Amino acid sequence: MVITLMENKESNYSIKDVIKKKIKEKIKQELLDEICEELKLEEEELTEEISSMLTKKTSSKPIIKLSKIPTAQIEEKTNVEIQVEKEIQKEVYISVKSILKIASHALKYANSKIPRENWVEVIGLLAGKLNKNDILLIEDAYPMGHGTAVYAEIKDYKNYVRAFKDIKRQRLFICGWYHSHPSYGLFMSNEDMGTQTRYQKLWDKAVALVIDPYLIDGTSTGFEIYSANLKSKTWFPLVYGIKGSLDVRMLPEIMKFIHPIIEGKPVYLEYDED
Ligand SMILES: [Zn+2]
Repeated sequence: MVITLMENKESNYSIKDVIKKKIKEKIKQELLDEICEELKLEEEELTEEISSMLTKKTSSKPIIKLSKIPTAQIEEKTNVEIQVEKEIQKEVYISVKSILKIASHALKYANSKIPRENWVEVIGLLAGKLNKNDILLIEDAYPMGHGTAVYAEIKDYKNYVRAFKDIKRQRLFICGWYHSHPSYGLFMSNEDMGTQTRYQKLWDKAVALVIDPYLIDGTSTGFEIYSANLKSKTWFPLVYGIKGSLDVRMLPEIMKFIHPIIEGKPVYLEYDED
């Protein structure tokens, strides 16, 4: 009798256990399903966010379709990611310091305080180095001179040697040249192609930066970096990235602020320095 009771008790317990186990399993499954669903949603949101961020970055490039990326189709997602990566791959980088130097040099001889007919081109050297992926980083710019309204050249050989030594001291090398086209846009003229050919014969990756300070209006950096095909005698712009952070919307304000420096004056004075 006692045994039977015990047996009954045991079997009662085991039925309870089975039910408990089943309920537990059901809850577990439901929870898992919920978590799974949550994760899927999150991933979808993130993917969308990332691709919209990347699209914003490359807004000047062909727009990438902002369609919902199905999380199940991982293969497709990877393709989109690779496509985005390709879209923003840079061929050359330029430092903020170089941009500010070049822009201020160009503006020194072509700004609103000078009558437009007196605006002239400026010219200078670009100093850079190659990164571990063999991509050129333009680290610094060396203003060399200014010329006529349509043509500037480096006239003084002695100054060229001086700049060469300064650049070498910085552990950089001359990786190209820059000049300005005050108010007449970004392109390479026949004379520019002649100069660029000489630079590319010295080093085949040499670049030509052309800046039109008139284009620095808060929407553009105002310059392009060109390379030439010496055989076909054609030129083409390189996809460049900025090393460091620079918001082009701030560029006009920065240039306006540093304008006194360009003219050799202090940016501001304390009252008793007057
Ligand atoms: Zn030119």
